[in-house]
Amino acid sequence: MAGSPRVGVLALQGDVREHRRVLTALGAEVVSVRRPDELASVDGLVLPGGESSVIDKLIRAFGMQQPLRDAVAAGLPVYGTCAGMILLADRIVNPIAGQQSIGGLDVDVERNAFGGQVESFETALDVVGFDAPVQAAFIRAPLATRVGPRAHAIATLPGGGVVAVRQQALLATAFHPEVAGETRFHELFLDLVRAA
Ligand code: GLN
Repeated sequence: MAGSPRVGVLALQGDVREHRRVLTALGAEVVSVRRPDELASVDGLVLPGGESSVIDKLIRAFGMQQPLRDAVAAGLPVYGTCAGMILLADRIVNPIAGQQSIGGLDVDVERNAFGGQVESFETALDVVGFDAPVQAAFIRAPLATRVGPRAHAIATLPGGGVVAVRQQALLATAFHPEVAGETRFHELFLDLVRAA
């Protein structure tokens, strides 16, 4: 791909601005994606954090569910953080009534897996392929409770909970690198975009 990759951030709800800022700083051309024609114009997509059940409702209200499923099936590189990881998961263990995911990532996720007591925390995490730990912010974060044969875990908490997953052109983290000034996941995502 010549020049800077053109990537989208799904801009229905959530921390869109933080992802736009990181991707722009890394030299990507960044567009907000709300409609099928906007999705069709990008070479990769970030699904931000926010509230997965709200984003799901808006995805369906905007007629975006099938276009997103088709794009994932066609191999579009997609990076989901937190709620975005939930949206990518093939199965949500504890959805709200009627909640759906886009799917594609061969994992089960549990929403709000750290409960109401300690909902948010930061920790240093080793990540497969990164030479120094990541400072990861967990904000009412999910966990991958099953990682199927097509996906593989690239970061786990000391207790063994899987919090980052890769599967071909798909990347998902239960935490938010974009709020802590961490850019390596977005760099990896842009590498996937360039390779696609
Ligand atoms: N708990 C939220 C959900 O279920 C995710 C939180 C986040 O994205 N920081 O969608």
